[in-house]
Amino acid sequence: MAYDRIFNFSAGPSMLPVSVLEAARDDMLNYQGSGMSVMEMSHRSKVYDEIIKQAEALLREVMGIPQNYKVMFLQGGASLQFAMVPMNLLKTGKADYIVTGQFSGKAYQEAQKYGEINLAATTKPENFSRIPQQNELKLNPDADYVHICYNNTIFGTKWNYIPETGNVPLVADLSSCILSEPIDVSRFGLIYAGAQKNVAPAGLTIVIAREDLLREELPAFVPTMCNYSVMAQNESMYNTPPCYPIYVCKLVLDWIKGMGGLSAMQAHNQKKAAILYDYLDSSKLFKNPVSPESRSLMNVTFRAEDDEINARFVKETSANGMSNLKGHRSVGGMRASIYNAMPVEGVEKLVEFMKAFEK
Ligand SMILES: *Cc1c(COP(=O)(O)O)cnc(C)c1O
Repeated sequence: MAYDRIFNFSAGPSMLPVSVLEAARDDMLNYQGSGMSVMEMSHRSKVYDEIIKQAEALLREVMGIPQNYKVMFLQGGASLQFAMVPMNLLKTGKADYIVTGQFSGKAYQEAQKYGEINLAATTKPENFSRIPQQNELKLNPDADYVHICYNNTIFGTKWNYIPETGNVPLVADLSSCILSEPIDVSRFGLIYAGAQKNVAPAGLTIVIAREDLLREELPAFVPTMCNYSVMAQNESMYNTPPCYPIYVCKLVLDWIKGMGGLSAMQAHNQKKAAILYDYLDSSKLFKNPVSPESRSLMNVTFRAEDDEINARFVKETSANGMSNLKGHRSVGGMRASIYNAMPVEGVEKLVEFMKAFEK
C-alpha cells in the first residue's frame, strides 16, 4: 500500500481513506489561501463557517436527512449520548431499551439514572450472538422512546430490520455503521454516532434528531451543554465545536459522494463482508459465533477453539501488515473491523492469510 501503510482492522479509531488524508495534508499549513490551518482558525470565521455548513449539507445529501430533522456536531462521544438521550427525551419518565451488547448495556444502565427504564428485550443469555425478532420485543406503547444499538461493534451483530415501534420514537446508536449503507432516517426519532469509526478522527459526535422531539425546557439539573435544543438553535456553535474532526468529516463525505454515495458504499461493504463470511462458513479452524441473519457488515468476529491459536494468529497477522485483529478484551478471539475505508484488498489479504494459517 502507498506510504507503507498497513491494513488496520481497528474497531475505532480506525482507517480513513488515503485520499482524505492526502487532502488534509495538502490543506494542512495553509487552508485554501486562508494563511492558516483549519486547526488554527476561529470557529466563527467566514472560512470555517463554510466548512461546517458544507459538512452539514453533505451529510444531509448523502444520508437523505429530511428537512424536519436537526443535525448537530457535538463532543463527548457516543457515551455522553447515553445520558443526553434520557435527559432530553424522557417526558413521562419511561423508556424501553433493547440490550444487544456492551454499548446498549451501558446506555441502558446510564438511562436508569433518569427514569423508569424497561428492558424490552435482550439476547444476553445467548451471549449476544443475535438480534431479537420483532415479536420478542416487549414494548410499552406509552414509552417516551425505544433505544437500540444498530450495529454491535464488539459482538459483530447488526439489526437487519428497523423495529416497528408505532408512535414511540426510535433512538439508535449508529456509531459503528453510520454511512456504511443507505438508511431511512425518517424511521428514527434520533440517531447518534461517535465519528471515530466511519466518519472522522475522535472528538466528534453526530446527532440527527427530529425537530418535534427537542424541548427547550428541561429539568434544571441538565447542563446547558447537554440540551439538544440549545445546541441545535446555535447550529452546533453554542461553544467551540470539534472543528478539525468536522472538517475531516466533510472530506470523508466528499469521498463517499465521489464513490457513488451510500448505495455504492453498501455494495463495497457487502463485497468485503462476503469474502470473510464465505471463508468462515467453510473453515474448520475459525468459527463466527453470530446467527447468519444478524451478521454485521462492519465488525466480523471469529475465533479458533484454542486460545493459544488465537494469540498466535493475532501475532502473526500483525507481523504481516494487518493490525488490530484481536477481539475486544471482554470477549476474546478475533475481530476484523472493515469500515468504509478498508479496501477490498485488505480483506482479500486477510482471508488469504487465514487460509494459509489454517493449512
Ligand atoms: C465505540 C462505540 C461507542 C462508544 O463511543 P465513544 O465515542 O467512545 O463514547 C458507543 N456505541 C457504539 C456502537 C460504539 O461502537
